[in-house]
Amino acid sequence: MKIKSATFVMSNSDVAKCPKEPIPEYAFIGRSNVGKSSLINMLTQRKSLAKTSGRPGKTQLINHFKINDEWFLVDLPGYGYARVSKSQKKTFQKFITNYFEKRLQLVSAFVLVDIRHEPQKIDMEFMQWLGENGIPFSIIFTKADKLKPNAIKQNIDIYKEKLLADVWEEMPNYFITSASKDIGKEELLDYIAQVNLE
Ligand code: GDP
Repeated sequence: MKIKSATFVMSNSDVAKCPKEPIPEYAFIGRSNVGKSSLINMLTQRKSLAKTSGRPGKTQLINHFKINDEWFLVDLPGYGYARVSKSQKKTFQKFITNYFEKRLQLVSAFVLVDIRHEPQKIDMEFMQWLGENGIPFSIIFTKADKLKPNAIKQNIDIYKEKLLADVWEEMPNYFITSASKDIGKEELLDYIAQVNLE
């Protein structure tokens, strides 16, 4: 897929106020600092469409971007920021679960995880929740430039093992990316184009 246009539509904290247009929507989510903004900027070929946040966990909004006048790319807030209080965490969970449960246009989520780290409890729990609620998702491994190919393979195998040992019958669809080195862009965009056609 070629990106002809990528425009910011709106930010809000209420799924009921999200754009009404019934076009396919893809949501990007992951722990703070995972590289989500950088990935969105790489995908859309815009330097600062998604703001790389100075203070992770601060901006908790649903951000809609319209791509090629055909689909919405949604930038959801990063989760798992250690410095927020318990009540803030609860509000955040409600806000995210509301989005996933109520957003009819949502075709698929992309859960971003840093390829360098072992599977984290919060990511595993989130993927499990998506699965239990029948929400399709793919995994995006970020920052692949930080590891050698062998280490990438090794870490993905650890994920596979963990996911299969938990609840999954097969490894979810996944992508290996690097925003710094422009890796994985075509594959991801072609995947979205393909799903949009189905
Ligand atoms: P977000 O909080 O998930 O939106 O993450 P950001 O996109 O703001 O990135 C967090 C940090 O990771 C920044 O310092 C980025 O420069 C760095 N980063 C993001 N993507 C990559 C990548 O592909 N490779 C490397 N080496 N660093 C990255």
